[in-house]
Amino acid sequence: GVRLVAVSKTKPVEDLQQAYMAGMRIFGENKAIEMQEKQQALPKDIAWHFIGHLQTNKVKYIAPFVSLIHSVDRLDLLEVINKEAQKNRRIIPCLLQFHIAQEDTKFGLNLSSVKELLESEAYKKMENVRIDGVMGMATNTDDRVQIRTEFAELKKIYSYLQQTFFKEQASFKEISMGMSDDYILAMEEGATLVRVGSAIFGARNYEKKSL
Ligand SMILES: *Cc1c(COP(=O)(O)O)cnc(C)c1O
Repeated sequence: GVRLVAVSKTKPVEDLQQAYMAGMRIFGENKAIEMQEKQQALPKDIAWHFIGHLQTNKVKYIAPFVSLIHSVDRLDLLEVINKEAQKNRRIIPCLLQFHIAQEDTKFGLNLSSVKELLESEAYKKMENVRIDGVMGMATNTDDRVQIRTEFAELKKIYSYLQQTFFKEQASFKEISMGMSDDYILAMEEGATLVRVGSAIFGARNYEKKSL
């Protein structure tokens, strides 16, 4: 029951076309305008998943068609997604992104900030977003034990939220975790969506540049 998100960020449309012909129907992108351009160029039965840090002023580019936003990490972003979804007369499914890695460079919620979000009046009034689960990224390390512990932690957060806030909502069932180097561990720890880029499309060019 695990679904594969083909992470095609930075890759040209031709690469996505090839993956499409091989049967891929879920693509993950982390830049709004790039995703919009690819969506316009490719077949309409593709489900587009947004997986990166999303700026509020970019939501409008993806709101008409995005299938799932994995990276909701703050209330003001959810408010803008809700507003843009309303303009498009649709409900946008979202995941809550958690900070599970040791690095402090990664975005994400923690248990106290998510409770604040889910208990806020602003959230309770939103009618055009639906929260379908959680997302997280493990620490970039070779220590498999640590990675497994972080995935297990995300699973625990998921179960807690499911029991506490989403008991009546059958669609709250997604745990998005695992990338090229750790998707097998993630599946063993309960992932329902794995986000795999370089293992499908090869290394991304910008990775060779240093910041
Ligand atoms: C780039 C990216 C991935 C895929 O990474 P690979 O190591 O190439 O598989 C997965 N998730 C997020 C959030 C990403 O930004």
